[in-house]
Amino acid sequence: MPAISSKKPYRVGRSHTGLGLFAIKPIKKGTKIVRYFGPLLDCKKKKDDAVENKYLFELNGRWTIDGSVRENIARYINHACKPNAESDVRPRKRKVFIRAIKNIEPGEEINYDYGTDYFKAYLKPSGCRCAACEKKRKKKRAEARAERQRLKAKAERKALRKAEKQAAKAEEKLRHELNGKSNGVKLNGKHLNGHGRKVGAGQMIVVESGISARPKGKQGRENRTPA
Ligand SMILES: [Zn+2]
Repeated sequence: MPAISSKKPYRVGRSHTGLGLFAIKPIKKGTKIVRYFGPLLDCKKKKDDAVENKYLFELNGRWTIDGSVRENIARYINHACKPNAESDVRPRKRKVFIRAIKNIEPGEEINYDYGTDYFKAYLKPSGCRCAACEKKRKKKRAEARAERQRLKAKAERKALRKAEKQAAKAEEKLRHELNGKSNGVKLNGKHLNGHGRKVGAGQMIVVESGISARPKGKQGRENRTPA
């Protein structure tokens, strides 16, 4: 990290997108914070026009500052869609200053809007990561999460209603079967003891019918099975 003079109200530090420039003293709205500087490129010269990097700052149709040089501390300043500084461009002087457009507190990251062209070329494809855009994304994610939860709860309620209906149906069916079927087929004497259904005197009859209703074929097969 570059040496920091105590006069300067900023330092280079870690930002969530890499490095950034941070205020270390209160910076009043309107203050020139730092100059954005580097070699001037003349687009009329083929060699200059061929230069390509992310730190080119166009002054006008002809002149561009190549801000990729190490000494240009302003190149650490990140883009923000809702910034606290702006680029103050002086094409005739061929100079650019970064100026505070809000009072900036110590510890706050300094940023400015890089402009539409840069945004479209470099930020939009991967998604702008400035605080305002992150906040927007976070809100959208929270909304999507809430919507998913709402749909899930709805589906669960629906499934529960369906299960309840099916259970009621099954219960109804079972009741029909128990009422309608001859008791003898399924119930033998052992079970009958537990099922004291309107029996009393009828109990013996049921047991008898149980024995007589046993399928003969099955019995025959059982007899043939070797021990
Ligand atoms: Zn943004």
